[in-house]
Amino acid sequence: LFISLEGGEGAGKSTQLKRLADRLKPRGEVVVTREPGGSPGAEAIRALLVTGAVDRWSPISETLLMYAARRDHIERTIEPALARGAIVLCDRFFDSTRAYQGAGGSAPAALIAALERDVVGDVRPDLTLILDMPVETGLARAAARGEGEARFEAKGLAFHQRLRAAFLAIAEAEPARCVLIDADAGIDEVEARIWRAVEARLA
Ligand code: C5P
Repeated sequence: LFISLEGGEGAGKSTQLKRLADRLKPRGEVVVTREPGGSPGAEAIRALLVTGAVDRWSPISETLLMYAARRDHIERTIEPALARGAIVLCDRFFDSTRAYQGAGGSAPAALIAALERDVVGDVRPDLTLILDMPVETGLARAAARGEGEARFEAKGLAFHQRLRAAFLAIAEAEPARCVLIDADAGIDEVEARIWRAVEARLA
């Protein structure tokens, strides 16, 4: 079982991923991983993308780096884990490229679709949980957290609104894979909503 978690800044993905992993552990091996990253090669690429060492990538370059990282992550981490029968929980996957580089950064949709087809192939999530909340709420949460990867987060409200719209559109277009979770609620309540969605797939 391959589950990805998606959402904008401050949506609470990391907290919910930990809680979901704890709930799933009694069922067997759970591999918690993330993108960009999740394998040594992909983490090295993440450092190029996220730390601000490089001031600015073009949307296409950024997309290609994301996909180089994703391919390594798939080969080294995700495929072997699924082959062992593990449950894979991934913090972001290809929907983040569609949203951040595509809708947010204007990388061509045709390029992203081609990469998705030829680089990801059939290693697609069985279930994608999309954590949704108003942009202002998410950004306020992320700011309060005070951590962060400044280059990516300093993008302005319009960018984040395009992201949210993109995630909502993905949820609507692919209802068999995606479940939209209203994440504008307490941590325990969001955890319960997520668990209902996951349990339905486990049955
Ligand atoms: O998941 P998290 O929010 O920690 O993501 C790390 C950073 O990478 C975020 O600031 C996000 O905006 C950025 N990112 C991106 N494009 C992706 C995936 C993540 O810009 N495809």
